[in-house]
Amino acid sequence: MYDAIVIGAGLTGSSAAWALSRRGRSVLLLEANDLNHTLGSSHGTSRIFRTALASPLYAAMAGRAQRLWTELEDESGTGLLRYTGALDFGEARRPGELHRAVVANNVACELLSPEAAQERWPFFRFPTQVLFHPQAGVVNPEAAIRAMLSVATGRYGAEVRTNTRVLKAREDSDGVHVETDGGTFRARSLIVAAGPWLPEILPEILTEAPQPEVRVTEQNVFHFRQSRAGDEWPVFVYKGHAQLFGLPSGGDAGPEPAIKVGRHDPGKRVTPSHRDGVPTEENRELITRFVEEWLPGLEPRSIRGDACLYTTTSNDDFILDRIGRTVVASPCSGQGAKFMPAVGEAIADLATENAPTEEAFALMAHAQL
Ligand SMILES: Cc1cc2nc3c(=O)[nH]c(=O)nc-3n(C[C@H](O)[C@H](O)[C@H](O)COP(=O)(O)OP(=O)(O)OC[C@H]3O[C@@H](n4cnc5c(N)ncnc54)[C@H](O)[C@@H]3O)c2cc1C
Repeated sequence: MYDAIVIGAGLTGSSAAWALSRRGRSVLLLEANDLNHTLGSSHGTSRIFRTALASPLYAAMAGRAQRLWTELEDESGTGLLRYTGALDFGEARRPGELHRAVVANNVACELLSPEAAQERWPFFRFPTQVLFHPQAGVVNPEAAIRAMLSVATGRYGAEVRTNTRVLKAREDSDGVHVETDGGTFRARSLIVAAGPWLPEILPEILTEAPQPEVRVTEQNVFHFRQSRAGDEWPVFVYKGHAQLFGLPSGGDAGPEPAIKVGRHDPGKRVTPSHRDGVPTEENRELITRFVEEWLPGLEPRSIRGDACLYTTTSNDDFILDRIGRTVVASPCSGQGAKFMPAVGEAIADLATENAPTEEAFALMAHAQL
């Protein structure tokens, strides 16, 4: 009997396995595919990290995650988070309002005129004021998963089984029976961290509880080569006619320095098994036009396009809750990566301390009624 079984070795499940195992809990992590496969939400080498967030709840969580990213880097001996600073701009992003909220959350930031910002980052053009915050950068999700799992297994004795799909689970008085296509396992608690597969697997586990309403969508990102290799690009979020984000591509578009620009607006509704995985021409054109107009430091022809899945609740809040012996964790909505070590910690609190659920993260707050 394990203390905890975790379903899913994306960023969420790997964070949970790391957090639980470093508390001395015995952990079995079950992953339906190979590690770092490209079918879900955690593949690639770059995600935006930032602490400048309007919501006090998420800003505090990002601050906690920042400290835990450093602990993970120390424990694993791997660099995972690279600071670049971040820029927010665009009419609908409301940089002035965001500035007030971020200051209220005690996060360092600076509001700049478009001219002052352009002088500092001449490879951008800005249609509005710009919010700059230095405590932001790029986290590498694939390296993070490897680091979490190598520490969890190597140092703390967690076990990982890949290519093992959970089919269903049932609770009884002393534990949870987890049935997979490779045998049955037992644990004191179960963590469901199945990302976009949540709507498929959760009804097989919480058979009587209301199911959360989540939307699984295919999102697109495109990579553009930097005109000058030496430019130090910050990450950015733009909200105007569309909501776009950008960040250094890491290794995702080859060895030459490139910037990944993605579209955050609701994507195409899909399921993990019914999707084509091909970026749309509409998104490529919209993003290319944006690059031509506002990012003069990039060559305005995308060198690669990728697709990835968001799992989003109706108000973008996470689901982090416990029912009986089962913890449900769905921290995506296109923004989960940055928080992951803190998400793992919250999952461990729910699983081992029976900690109270944050109201905004409760299953009932997202239930289909
Ligand atoms: C295009 C894109 C850009 C993003 N950009 C950012 C960003 O800049 N900053 C940021 O903070 N966040 C970002 N995110 C969000 C972040 O990447 C996600 O929040 C995070 O990767 C979610 O991880 P997950 O573990 O919940 O899901 P996944 O990575 O999908 O992992 C779920 C795992 O569960 C496994 N699984 C499912 N069902 C079963 C089963 N029955 N049995 C066993 N295993 C199962 C799957 O195989 C999968 O490996 C982005 C997401 C996307 C898609």
